[in-house]
Amino acid sequence: MKQSLLFAPTLRDMPKEAEVISHKILLRGGYIKQGAAGVYTYLPLGYRVIKKIENIIRYELDNIGCSELLMPSLQSKDLWVESGRWDAYGKELMRLSDRHDREFCLGPTHEEVITSIVRDHVKSYKNLPLALYQIQTKFRDEFRPRFGLMRGREFIMKDLYTFSSTQEDLDEWYLKVRKAYQNILDRLDLKYRIVRADSGNIGGKNSEEFMVLCDIGEDTIAYSDESEFACNVELMDLKEGDPSPDGKGTIKLAKGIEAGHIFKLGTKYSEPMKCVFVDKDGKSKPIIMGCYGIGVSRLLMAVLEQHYRDDKAVWPEEISPFEIHIIPLDKEGTPAYDKALEVLQKLEAKGYDCLFDDRGESPGSKFKDADLIGIRNRIVVGRKASEGIFEYKNLANDNTIEVTLDDLMEMEF
Ligand code: ATP
Ligand code: MG
Repeated sequence: MKQSLLFAPTLRDMPKEAEVISHKILLRGGYIKQGAAGVYTYLPLGYRVIKKIENIIRYELDNIGCSELLMPSLQSKDLWVESGRWDAYGKELMRLSDRHDREFCLGPTHEEVITSIVRDHVKSYKNLPLALYQIQTKFRDEFRPRFGLMRGREFIMKDLYTFSSTQEDLDEWYLKVRKAYQNILDRLDLKYRIVRADSGNIGGKNSEEFMVLCDIGEDTIAYSDESEFACNVELMDLKEGDPSPDGKGTIKLAKGIEAGHIFKLGTKYSEPMKCVFVDKDGKSKPIIMGCYGIGVSRLLMAVLEQHYRDDKAVWPEEISPFEIHIIPLDKEGTPAYDKALEVLQKLEAKGYDCLFDDRGESPGSKFKDADLIGIRNRIVVGRKASEGIFEYKNLANDNTIEVTLDDLMEMEF
């Protein structure tokens, strides 16, 4: 893509409202723009990264047999009264009414809607199991929106719901989804821990959170230095140095960002909402449910908190907004610029997603923007272009080397 057509309003100065590095990078690189407290536009660069994260999630969930759908954000009060959450959810629920004074909310989560859909269409154990997910904008009137996309009032979530006829089947789905989540976070190159958690507003007895380890995390997790034991401290009062409750090792504390949360809901929604099926024995029973969320927009920041150098983004390979940034230092119409175009065509022909700086800006200004945007692989076509020599820089290790077109054709980006 030509950079002259990319809308990436980079900021030369450090924005005052940003307190954490990931937020600074996204604002300065022209990735996002604030609309109101906790409400953001994903500008083209930010949205490219979001779509890449979404596609990793889609791939891993489709791979275990889940199907994607898209439910409405506007949800009728009646459903929330049925589940008992219209009052219980409290002030976080964004409520509104239509011109006929019928009441609605903007979905903070979709257990009610999905349960009402499944109860209308699933009658027998033969129709089960089902695993349905969506990637959608959620609304929560957070008391304290902060850190940009980390705690928004409007944010993108992936929410998956499973419907089983037996507890064993739910247990199997839970483990499959847990593994898919591990794959997703591994592909995003994140360091994280899976911890036992409080089920909060969603409910159910059993839940685990995927905590991206990071000092700015709002949650504190306690983990054993010798075993897999790990839990959110809101669940148990554990201090650094305590013996681990599983009898193995001692407790250490760390800060984490909650990237995902998986729940065994059981019949918490299916019972009050009468989402039932006829089992093999001819009896009518409530469907056994699980629900599983990932904070897609929050992940954009969580990834950056672990992937930057010198205040600049170093995106993990799979989610860099573009794979390669090609920067000709000479103006259009010069032989060096034509060389740069040749590099672009050859790399595009190999299937790489390239950003080409065709703007008539000074080299200094092009480099400044390139640093603020932070595309992983950079090819500069400059002084030695006439000899067929270019500069290649990988932002991950900050090394610059001289390469020829043949070298570039052999490299993997
Ligand atoms: P938190 O404890 O951070 O408020 P939660 O337990 O309310 O999260 P869930 O209801 O489990 O979150 O939502 C699923 C996922 O959505 C979370 O794991 C998190 O990654 C993301 N998420 C939740 N609230 C927000 C928010 N206000 N802004 C951005 N992402 C969010
Ligand atoms: Mg919350």
